[in-house]
Amino acid sequence: MVDATRETALVSEVGPRDGLQMAAGRMATADKLAWIDALAAAGLREIEVGAFGPAKALPMMADIEAVVAHALAIPGLTVAALAPNLKGGERALAAGVHKITLPVSVSRSHSTANVNKPPEAAVAELAALRRLCDARPEGARPAIEGGLSTAFGCTIEGAVAEDAVVRLAAMLAEAGADAMGLADTAGMAHPRQVARLVARVSAEVGPLLDGVHLHNANGLGLANACAAFEAGVRTFDASLAGLGGCPFAPGPSGNIATEDLVHLFDLMGVETGVDLEKLLAARDVLARALPGEPLHGAVAALPPKLRAVSGRAA
Ligand SMILES: [Zn+2]
Repeated sequence: MVDATRETALVSEVGPRDGLQMAAGRMATADKLAWIDALAAAGLREIEVGAFGPAKALPMMADIEAVVAHALAIPGLTVAALAPNLKGGERALAAGVHKITLPVSVSRSHSTANVNKPPEAAVAELAALRRLCDARPEGARPAIEGGLSTAFGCTIEGAVAEDAVVRLAAMLAEAGADAMGLADTAGMAHPRQVARLVARVSAEVGPLLDGVHLHNANGLGLANACAAFEAGVRTFDASLAGLGGCPFAPGPSGNIATEDLVHLFDLMGVETGVDLEKLLAARDVLARALPGEPLHGAVAALPPKLRAVSGRAA
């Protein structure tokens, strides 16, 4: 139960999408379903279960429709999916997901490398998806999120101008995004940069900015999460065991590890509704289903006694 007197954060698990997209091995559908079940059982209330991309580019997501159907049957779970383009968005609409994220890169070079189009074209696709969504009956309209990739830097272009991020956020608001998130795709951000950019984008689009997607390539993932929380962000993407990352941003660890993020919030007295021990148990599914895949994360290596000091008692 979420305690209304405490501060809260929504941890959005992206492992089944971001993690599997980058994993060396292919996870069997039955294992994906078992993993999603274990994540939901640990108390995660939002899971990005996969991507609606072309089968040729994303063969590991060929079973996305079956995975979505399974996840939709889990009570209380917000089922999210990534759509790299309008076509994927149409499939996501048809599948009945609750939330569709369209990635839009601030960096033109990354945009071309990642989705093969300039940022303006990606924004236009979000606007088109908005119209399709609005034409549907009430109650069958998923939330559309614009994910601002490379908001804190780009491995191809280097520094990314904050003005460009603010401009793109304004364009996404104009295009009808219900929410947006700032993504540190390259894992280049630092805490003061996060605080500053969250403040600037919030000043432009208000509460539409509600999330961050942080990578840990430079080891500052959790410090950046902390800075984002203090700056008012309340939705945090994370991936169990830090699985995933970006194919154009190599690094030892991709996403921030969900279990480390939950532990951080536990210690800080921020309610996530997630049971850390159950979350750690979900790593067993990963270890079994993706043999040889490196599992990251600091908390999993801690003796349980040290984990027990976490904020449950605070
Ligand atoms: Zn990621």
